[in-house]
Amino acid sequence: MINADTAQCFLCSKVFPYGHGRYPVIRIQDYDMMVCATCLSGNEDGWNPRHEAKILAHLRDIGMPVPPRLPNELLPIRWEADAG
Ligand SMILES: [Zn+2]
Repeated sequence: MINADTAQCFLCSKVFPYGHGRYPVIRIQDYDMMVCATCLSGNEDGWNPRHEAKILAHLRDIGMPVPPRLPNELLPIRWEADAG
């Protein structure tokens, strides 16, 4: 079960202890999803294409815009919604 002291990684679905000084899962604000440090470090150049279907469905579900792709064709980890 997920409770207040745990957080689940959106990408790998692992559940981690969370809070009380332990924050191994990071909230990615631009996607409104929680991602663990391992997944984050494995996707520094952009989200791995194997995660894209899940990420795009999530963005659609929550009504957030799809970020513009990076020059390497991947979706960016972080991006600025406001291009101005
Ligand atoms: Zn993960």
